[in-house]
Amino acid sequence: MTRPGPFRGVFTQQEPIPDAAIAAAVAVLRSGRLHRYNVVPGEVAQAALLERDYAAWQGSRYCLACGSGGQAMQIALRAFGVRPGEPVLTNAFTLAPVPGAIAGVGGRPVFVETTEDLVIDLDDLARKARDSGARLLLLSHMRGHLVDMDALAAVLARCGLTLIEDCAHTMGARWNGRKSGSFGFAACFSTQTYKHMNTGEGGLLTSDDAGFMARAIILSGSYMLYERHGAAPDASAFADARLDSPNLSARMDNLRAAILRPQLATLDENIDRWNERYEAVAAELRGVPTIRLPDRPAAERFVGSSIQFLMPGIDEEGARRFLAAAADLGVELKWFGDREPRGFTSTHRSWRYADPQVLPKSDRVLAVLFDMRIPLTFSVEDCAHIGRIIAHCAGYTGGAARVVHVGVAQMAHTGGE
Ligand SMILES: *Cc1c(COP(=O)(O)O)cnc(C)c1O
Repeated sequence: MTRPGPFRGVFTQQEPIPDAAIAAAVAVLRSGRLHRYNVVPGEVAQAALLERDYAAWQGSRYCLACGSGGQAMQIALRAFGVRPGEPVLTNAFTLAPVPGAIAGVGGRPVFVETTEDLVIDLDDLARKARDSGARLLLLSHMRGHLVDMDALAAVLARCGLTLIEDCAHTMGARWNGRKSGSFGFAACFSTQTYKHMNTGEGGLLTSDDAGFMARAIILSGSYMLYERHGAAPDASAFADARLDSPNLSARMDNLRAAILRPQLATLDENIDRWNERYEAVAAELRGVPTIRLPDRPAAERFVGSSIQFLMPGIDEEGARRFLAAAADLGVELKWFGDREPRGFTSTHRSWRYADPQVLPKSDRVLAVLFDMRIPLTFSVEDCAHIGRIIAHCAGYTGGAARVVHVGVAQMAHTGGE
């Protein structure tokens, strides 16, 4: 294989907001009624309409629109009743706002190991549930990888754990045909720019539990206007919540809701587009002996908005050379093995507000784990090109597997798996 030419695309460039969403946003701006409770008689606010639409799309009874995915998680934990100092289980491979949400409500993050398929280790979950006495698992389907949800359900039942799902990367994903976010007591979604719908910042919380959702709505800052919500329980569910729950002012406004509603209509189509692009990258990586792609079971219908791969045996210096070689050819990869947190990428070692924890299995995985965004502004051909660059930088010469590139010289000796 000859050295691929450089790639010139921009990894942080999203698609423009669709015209229908721009028109809806302009209508809200013209009305001046941006606050979700600012309506004229007979009007249903965009935020309430979004809650109705999203609940229907997700198949949940209730939905709350809020300011960010992180706020959705904090509200969920608080509405569930996490007490100060209470242990809350979560997976070690996740994004900073997840342990941040646990700490934010005064909880204590307890990290569960991650497997080399990038899902929660169910044996470690059972062990830590028992040892910590935790009531709750805040499971982050990190980078869209779904654990065997049936096996998880069995562990949850056995350990008496309640599940709250963080679906920031699994909006629209399914396990055996069932939507991610419908397996737990509640689910949190993000509409931040790099997720599956884009309002800059934004979050959605879903659940079928009336008491929980009433507390969540009051927590989000509904004052006594909770009847202006689009997918809320009856007023009777608020009898205590309206007086017992503090107002944390974490609402979504009508402008962002208006931008989201038209995007919901094209989400399924975009999922297919993401998956085509994911497959174009993955196809180039599959034959590369130094690279291991996580297993993706047939039951999992994922959303390929990003791709992850392991390079078993690569050492720190090799990883840096590999990253530099890819960057040289225009491919921006993230590496979870870095000692220093960079950009959006950090690990449990840099979350010092949590108790220090020993996670040898996750550390081994993270040390050799690379990650890349797949924006929809890239064509399928762009993605194949990117895949060829990664394969090249990983030492792939095509045909018989021989490792020659300096970036992974070390791996030739330690041997990939
Ligand atoms: C982005 C993200 C969040 C939080 O989303 P924000 O809307 O940015 O607060 C939560 N979990 C994961 C895994 C994420 O990637």
